[in-house]
Amino acid sequence: MTDHQMKKLRTLGKRYARATAMAHTEALNALAMELGFVHWKALTDAAKEDWYPSDEDLARAEEFVRQAGAKTDVNAPHGDTSYIDEPAPEEGELSGHQYRIGAYLGDVVVSGKGWDLRIPEAPFKAPIVEIDERYAETSPIKDPNFLAQLLDIAKERSTRIRAQMAVDWPRRSTKADLDGVARHPLRGGEASTWYCHSCDGQITGPQVAMNYWHCPNCGTHPLNIHAEPFDDQFPGEPVLTPDTALRESLEVRIVEPKLTLHLNEAAVSTLIRCALLEDASSVNERLAAMRAEISLIDGEEVWITFDETLWPKDKEPTAALAVATKLGLEVEQDLSLFAEPFAWPDIGCMMSDTAEFTETLMKAYEEHGVIKR
Ligand SMILES: [Zn+2]
Repeated sequence: MTDHQMKKLRTLGKRYARATAMAHTEALNALAMELGFVHWKALTDAAKEDWYPSDEDLARAEEFVRQAGAKTDVNAPHGDTSYIDEPAPEEGELSGHQYRIGAYLGDVVVSGKGWDLRIPEAPFKAPIVEIDERYAETSPIKDPNFLAQLLDIAKERSTRIRAQMAVDWPRRSTKADLDGVARHPLRGGEASTWYCHSCDGQITGPQVAMNYWHCPNCGTHPLNIHAEPFDDQFPGEPVLTPDTALRESLEVRIVEPKLTLHLNEAAVSTLIRCALLEDASSVNERLAAMRAEISLIDGEEVWITFDETLWPKDKEPTAALAVATKLGLEVEQDLSLFAEPFAWPDIGCMMSDTAEFTETLMKAYEEHGVIKR
């Protein structure tokens, strides 16, 4: 029961992080503070003792996360983690070229064959074009006219997404009154000057309402906009609502195809190690497979060094050899003395059941040594 409730809290923390674009640990801390803890660690420490989130705590956490615009039904089928305010991508066509346009965590992304255009949520950040190197010469996005039209489509989309998010907001949140007073759409409270806790910018009511409560300077989420400055001593500078001229200029990158397999040491050793685990029959052999040193020499030869106390001297790693053949690599094997993972290496050489091995190992430590947690 307790585990289930903690899992629900962790899931909510993850959703909160995604909805607010906060770091995951920061989001967990925010959630823990909402429940009266100083940080997430304090909450998990309490959960190790006898505290567990009550139904009221969970309801409160759900409401907190819901306000950030994330879905909160953690029992939803298929582990749906999409957002209420991010509509599904749409298809379109421009000058005979098909594209797909969608929003991901506030950024608008338009993709076509071999190219992507990303408009970051932050208003001053440069739009980024990425072109698959195979289409570097022929991509339509290299045509400035085509690109200008795409940028217009993407900007319109970005405005529409924010407007959709705001449909349920009180009127005072999307339009300040004559005195410049606007109402925070998620947290409530009215003021004519607002403070971004992300970049310390000072924002007027009309500015923040017009920008759907994202900071006009750094683009942060509405939950980072507060009626009080983060630090009273340094209330920050008034922000300018940047027009398009202030956005950093567009960046074009020629990139590798997303589906590129690099047969480097990391990839080769992962495949070889996976095969070694297939070759391993006893607990010791599996430990040896996990701990083997695998290096790629000059892109031609894979060198495997086994722990001599764990891997039998005359055992052929046939699966690993077969993988090396597929990769066109020679194999060199070597034995060396490693620091032992556990005392009594003999225990694991006849056993293949890890639970049984663990039990025997713990008994041996209890009898002849100590176990610390
Ligand atoms: Zn800001």
